[in-house]
Amino acid sequence: MLVINVSRIPPEGLEVQESLEPGEVHLEGEDGFDLAPGGRLEARLERGEDDSAHVRGRLSARLGLQCGRCLEPFVLPVEQDLDLFYLPRRADEEGEEEDEVELADRDMVIAYYDGDELDLGEMIREQFFLTLPLKRLCREECRGLCPTCGSNRNDVRCECPPPAEAATPFGSLRKLFEDKDR
Ligand SMILES: [Zn+2]
Ligand SMILES: [Zn+2]
Repeated sequence: MLVINVSRIPPEGLEVQESLEPGEVHLEGEDGFDLAPGGRLEARLERGEDDSAHVRGRLSARLGLQCGRCLEPFVLPVEQDLDLFYLPRRADEEGEEEDEVELADRDMVIAYYDGDELDLGEMIREQFFLTLPLKRLCREECRGLCPTCGSNRNDVRCECPPPAEAATPFGSLRKLFEDKDR
């Protein structure tokens, strides 16, 4: 179970070793990527004064993505060290910024949990989104699809002439973007 009752974390700490299921990490209905089987969370939880919880460990998973250029599926490995600090959410803090607070002496990510339940699945989901690259490419040098015949230029070399770049007012602009893309 990835939902932890903070009040039940024993004084000596709690070891969590879990295989990840898409449902437990709240990826139902997520169509941008899949969680491949075999993902794991290994973590140690400690309860501090004031019911804070410190989570340290490692997240290992493989995410199934689709290449933004050639549209082929590919796998992104996620290997993430975790060092997160959770505080109970107080009623008067409702709606406040809760993302990242930098403590003076230490760069630490602070988050909040509700009631007594700390959902590590939610934490993992956030880690996935933080890890996902802006540009999802099967490989840096992916050559994408031919705009004329649609064939995958990683696999085949079609004979289509290059598209007329300057034929439309946007042609040169598009070229600019494509060059930047490479
Ligand atoms: Zn690709
Ligand atoms: Zn072609």
